[in-house]
Amino acid sequence: MLFLRGQNFIWPLRPFTALTSTFYEYRTTHFHSGVDLSTYGKTGLPVRASESGEIFRIFYHWYGFGRAVYIRHPGGFVTVYGHLVRFEDKGLGLERLLKNLQRSTGKKYIGNYYLERPIRVRRGQVIGYSGSMGIGGPHLHFEIRKGEIQPLNPLLFLRAPTGPVVLRSYILEVASPGSFVGLSPTRLYGRLPENRKIPVHGCFRFFLQGYEKCRGRCGIYHLEAYFDGKKVFDLKGDRFQFSRNYTAGWFFNLALSTTKRPYYVIPDFSSPPLCIATGEHTLEIRGTNFYGKTGRAFLRLYHWPSPLSLKGLCCAERWNGQGWERVSGEIPDRGYIRFKTSAGGFSSPWIILYRGESLKSGESVKPLRIEAHVGWEKAVFPRGFLASPLFCQGECFAVTAPGRGNLVSRGFSFKIEDSAPGIRVKMGGEGFPGIAFLRVSTLPPQKVPEELLPISKFYLLTPREALLKSPATVEIRLQEKYRRDIGIYRKFSRKWSFLKPSRSGGWLQVKTKLLGTFVVARDVVPPQIGRIRIRRGIIYVTIRDRGSGVNPEAIRISIGGKGFIPEYDYDAGLAFGRVKVPRGRHLLKVRAEDFAGNSSARSVWVAGK
Ligand SMILES: [Zn+2]
Repeated sequence: MLFLRGQNFIWPLRPFTALTSTFYEYRTTHFHSGVDLSTYGKTGLPVRASESGEIFRIFYHWYGFGRAVYIRHPGGFVTVYGHLVRFEDKGLGLERLLKNLQRSTGKKYIGNYYLERPIRVRRGQVIGYSGSMGIGGPHLHFEIRKGEIQPLNPLLFLRAPTGPVVLRSYILEVASPGSFVGLSPTRLYGRLPENRKIPVHGCFRFFLQGYEKCRGRCGIYHLEAYFDGKKVFDLKGDRFQFSRNYTAGWFFNLALSTTKRPYYVIPDFSSPPLCIATGEHTLEIRGTNFYGKTGRAFLRLYHWPSPLSLKGLCCAERWNGQGWERVSGEIPDRGYIRFKTSAGGFSSPWIILYRGESLKSGESVKPLRIEAHVGWEKAVFPRGFLASPLFCQGECFAVTAPGRGNLVSRGFSFKIEDSAPGIRVKMGGEGFPGIAFLRVSTLPPQKVPEELLPISKFYLLTPREALLKSPATVEIRLQEKYRRDIGIYRKFSRKWSFLKPSRSGGWLQVKTKLLGTFVVARDVVPPQIGRIRIRRGIIYVTIRDRGSGVNPEAIRISIGGKGFIPEYDYDAGLAFGRVKVPRGRHLLKVRAEDFAGNSSARSVWVAGK
């Protein structure tokens, strides 16, 4: 193991506690750029400078790292300490500095601030106190960077016990139209270890759910995959550049992953899928922790030559250039074929297959009408497939230009044409690896939180896995008069999130790096202000909003006319701050607002001693 020398970093918590997240772990739109240290459910633990240096930057916002300290060290290293509950003030005066900045900017959440005069600190000196913001309860987020743009794995400098690698389950998914995995035209789910031999026709990808044991589940330090002994995947968490964060969508399946249960994509989306033409094959997965402990899994696959006969199918039809014609017997092995499967007397929607040799590069395909599609949402065309939007009626397709890491050219746009156009999408260019398949379709009404009143159709933009390098512009036609409480909402991994739209003409517009389901909705319910209590000079107020969400910058607590904006812990739905109640009875007022501008207020009588 190579340990980087020349620096003498120490863990910022003393004694060292435990890791709850490792470096390069999956996060929804990026890689985890440091490690998370457990604080055993507590907050307020002293956080120490990992090495001597100077504090040159602080950050304070209700999102991201909350309160964070940045220290510059000799050799071009930078350490970062995130989610602090408080900065150190006695010796370093950082809380006073924050107060001054808030006063001079008139903003509570100052964001990034680079100190005019950096403050020298010694190794081990307390710089702040651990807090609880961010995912997974109280913890300390700690980073070592080279400069400010390249985070490094802290384990390259510091020792921390990590557990064995557990390879838990998988999903095999077809990766080209006409492929089958385990007799399914879409997906096969399995647990590891897998003893079955799996029949495959065509091309597939392997989505792995696995982790490294830590205090909980951590990301795997080094994951490799070998197909028939040849390396087809290699992801090692030593270092990366922030500018490569968008590639998280190549290595993790964004549509399937949650932060604590990510699915690795093997081979990653920037590489061609695995294909089987004859014989038996093995896929070996190796997950290794930082100290060389390896967990292994094997998958045995064999070529399944005849994926479908008409037995068990209700019908199959073949595209002859003008229309669909019925076929009987074996399904033809070339061209576009659609079929339905039946189960329990019900038949599925049409499933479209493209079978046959891949098209030569540059060859274009004539527009083709497709009625319905199952398992195509994630379909990837054979390399060389090139076409303009296939058709635009009710639904829209765009097929990507071939090329690594390049989806469609910048500014490429398409729209859904109903009786009146309802949605327009303009791609920022780049982002999907390899050849992908982009689609906008309308969905039947979806379930949304009851605070929301949908006022447009529901639009599904796929592939949902995409994490775009530069944002796409999504515009939805406004069907009603504009009101302030209107927003665009996007559903991603089961959660609806509010995107603040801008207006241009009769259209609402947002920029987004994530696709998924979109709808225009009104948030018709203001936030709920719950319990208010004061303990040891600190006021705690529960404030929640399931619509557009609580706007932390618009919360106000006041006593006798004197007010302040409290801190807000988004995950706990808790506003808090220091209050001093003057002698006698006073009216304490709490006012809260959601991002759609709905407000609510509550007051209680409090008595000062
Ligand atoms: Zn973290």
